[in-house]
Amino acid sequence: MDQIKIGTFIAARRKAAGLTQLQLAERLGITDRAVSKWETGRAMPDASLMLDLCQILEITVNDLLCGEVVTVERYDREMEQNLLGLVEQKQEADRRLLRLETVMSFVCIGVLLALAAIAAYVPMQEWLRLTLVGIGVAPLVVAVPFMIKIEQSAGYYECARCHHRYVPQYKNVFISAHLGRTRYLRCPVCKKRSWQKKKLSKDE
Ligand SMILES: [Zn+2]
Repeated sequence: MDQIKIGTFIAARRKAAGLTQLQLAERLGITDRAVSKWETGRAMPDASLMLDLCQILEITVNDLLCGEVVTVERYDREMEQNLLGLVEQKQEADRRLLRLETVMSFVCIGVLLALAAIAAYVPMQEWLRLTLVGIGVAPLVVAVPFMIKIEQSAGYYECARCHHRYVPQYKNVFISAHLGRTRYLRCPVCKKRSWQKKKLSKDE
């Protein structure tokens, strides 16, 4: 997807509708800075705003993603390409999130090990020792819910029995046993429990 082209298209349709950036922003309940970012190609409209935006600009979502009004003959092919583009963007975003999770876990465990080592080997009073370990555990306690949220929402889990790929509920991920990112979950399709691997794409 060509963000610059999409931005130019949004600006043209907004002007054709006789709206200023501020007026468009107010109708969508966002800031005019966000509209300016779209129009200069620095950001894409959030998916939750796309339908309202397209209605105001009198275009289809597909037109928006193409950066032009698409004729009916080209529509199917363009739509397929846009859907593929969206899927690729999601996969790339998911990959980044999972990488962030890995970094977070290394940092948290590193802090904990460092402070635990100091508490274990440096002579000090007992209360100080406990405080150090407490401080070492704190980042982990704060980070774990975020890390589980990433694991739950980025990509998909694949059932080891029927190979169905799906996004499980947060609470199920939270309470499940895991080895790294592979989790013991119940498949919503075949209802069997298995060790399910994380996959970035929805299709096998
Ligand atoms: Zn299954």
